[in-house]
Amino acid sequence: MIKAVFPGSFDPITLGHVDIIERALPLFDEIIVAIGINAEKKYMWSLDDRKAFLEKTFAREPKIKVATYTGLTAEFCKKVKARYILRGLRNTSDFAYEQTIAQANDNAFGVDSMFLMGSPEMSYISSTVVRDIARHGGDYSSFVPPGVQ
Ligand code: ADP
Repeated sequence: MIKAVFPGSFDPITLGHVDIIERALPLFDEIIVAIGINAEKKYMWSLDDRKAFLEKTFAREPKIKVATYTGLTAEFCKKVKARYILRGLRNTSDFAYEQTIAQANDNAFGVDSMFLMGSPEMSYISSTVVRDIARHGGDYSSFVPPGVQ
């Protein structure tokens, strides 16, 4: 059983995340979409809401599980017996950021990272942009899956 963990804050989940997960589905037997909990970080949506959005979005996909974790992503992968960390790449800044983390995770924990390039139509979508729009009372519904409010 080939498992991957797709880690993130998902504050909130966007169509960019969904694009990456859907592209990865044929590659894995199970994808665990995992919300990393960082006590020092302030989130716009509560953990319960972020988790509920994920569960609702992937309710009809049996290969996708939703989880939360604290601590290192690579340690969570070991715990759930996932061999891969799945990440999406939008641009070279994403790549530069991901490269050192991926190499460290391989070197220290033997966990490989798998990168998929998202659709160019989604490359401007990020949780940060959604939060900015939400903060100013704007309509962000075209950036997120149905059910995220
Ligand atoms: P983090 O808090 O670790 O940045 P995010 O929730 O922002 O996590 O993102 C999780 C993953 O989804 C990352 O690999 C990120 O690059 C990817 N991702 C987010 N938005 C997009 C997008 N529009 N296209 C491709 N990948 C994306």
